[in-house]
Amino acid sequence: MPQTIINFGKTWQFTPKQIVYPTNVQELKSIIKTAISLRPVGSKHSWSKGIVTTETLVSLQNMCTIQEINIEKLQVKVGAGITLKNLIAQLELNGLALSNLGSIHAQTLAGAICTGTHGTGINFQCLASQVENFEMVDGNGENHFFTNKDEEFYALLTGMGCCGIIHTITLNVVKSFQMHAITDAVDFDELIENLENYVEKYDHFKFWWLPPSKKVMVFKNNRTQQKRNDSNFTRFIKDEVLSVAIYRLLVAVGKWNRKKFIPLFNYFLTKMGGKYFERICKSYVGFLTPLPPVHRETEWAFNYTQAKHLLKEYKELLLNDEHTYNFVQEVRFSCSDNFWLSPAYKQNTIWLPMYNMDNNNNWEEQRKKFETWAIANNGRPHWGKEANLKHEYLKKQYVKLADFNALVKKYDPLQKFANNWNKKFYTNCNE
Ligand SMILES: Cc1cc2nc3c(=O)[nH]c(=O)nc-3n(C[C@H](O)[C@H](O)[C@H](O)COP(=O)(O)OP(=O)(O)OC[C@H]3O[C@@H](n4cnc5c(N)ncnc54)[C@H](O)[C@@H]3O)c2cc1C
Repeated sequence: MPQTIINFGKTWQFTPKQIVYPTNVQELKSIIKTAISLRPVGSKHSWSKGIVTTETLVSLQNMCTIQEINIEKLQVKVGAGITLKNLIAQLELNGLALSNLGSIHAQTLAGAICTGTHGTGINFQCLASQVENFEMVDGNGENHFFTNKDEEFYALLTGMGCCGIIHTITLNVVKSFQMHAITDAVDFDELIENLENYVEKYDHFKFWWLPPSKKVMVFKNNRTQQKRNDSNFTRFIKDEVLSVAIYRLLVAVGKWNRKKFIPLFNYFLTKMGGKYFERICKSYVGFLTPLPPVHRETEWAFNYTQAKHLLKEYKELLLNDEHTYNFVQEVRFSCSDNFWLSPAYKQNTIWLPMYNMDNNNNWEEQRKKFETWAIANNGRPHWGKEANLKHEYLKKQYVKLADFNALVKKYDPLQKFANNWNKKFYTNCNE
């Protein structure tokens, strides 16, 4: 019975002819060899259509176990279909942790890494930088092993599964640590003026803005080995029950009259959420936020050297909009890396988002306006989020795109992994 697949954002759906769940590399090889066309799938948390296929959808949910833990070398070999949530839990049992994370842990390890998923911290690269080596079965059904000493490692790991399916990953992990986490509110203009005092002073700095508030909520997070001083119960009630319930209630009420209610609610939420709060918590508690309601996201990477100027324009862009925004705008920072298609390739990065819950027509207007501004400022789109990808523009922003295309031809000569979404960015093919 064909099964319909819907993404987290509920923005599209499709029905593949079949969904397969290999349990080992041999099975994965034979699936790829016999398939006409196929796409790998993780947790379906992308807004971009990387997983869409009318033929075979391959889930690695049965290739998700920890295969080896080397405590001395601080390395863990794992099936690539594992969810980050499960991985974090297994590592914790062994006194280990991931060095950096994004804002949620629902994604699969492979799915998150493939799209260049990132957290925040100007000295921390995207999640893929934690990989020591990986194995991938290509479009010919051949298995390959790449380590971070190989140039192709940097092409294929954040390659959106265009050349093959990544099934095994060895990660460099760290000993469990805590986060000294401070939440506070500051004036947006003051933050822009003194940006480096925030971004460069804390290991994992980010901020949330609820337009049109003049203040933003800042997250000043530093890594520490001090003992945690928070309690699971208080955290659960505060973060997962109270904040989530109040927020969802306000979103529901705000729908009655967006223009009137949303600005008021955003002032209120900034006041509540931005109250000074300090704690020492487990590292992943400091990184993660509760899973948000269904919403839409576009997020672009910009050169950090331009951050102050960009933030001033960004603020005006959203303030001068006739639209309202009932979702936090999460501004983050990350370190330059060497992954060919990473939006942070060779540049320290400020990530500027546009997140919202609105009707489709409004959202499309908001996205197009934001995208026009992002393109005028040499932004690079996040591969897992919404963006209208144009090969000619991407070629300028991703200088290795032509080389990547050559690798696609080498590893997937029959174009088994091509779909309408990925062909648009690595070739000049229009749908
Ligand atoms: C609520 C929410 C919060 C988010 N927070 C962040 C954040 O903090 N930081 C950030 O950078 N991003 C964030 N994202 C984006 C998210 O991390 C990416 O879209 C990620 O790719 C989703 O992982 P997934 O497992 O759901 O993969 P999917 O969406 O299922 O797939 C993503 C891509 O990876 C490919 N793929 C999947 N498995 C494999 C494999 N084994 N081998 C090769 N290719 C494969 C798929 O074909 C597809 O092209 C968020 C998304 C949501 C919905």
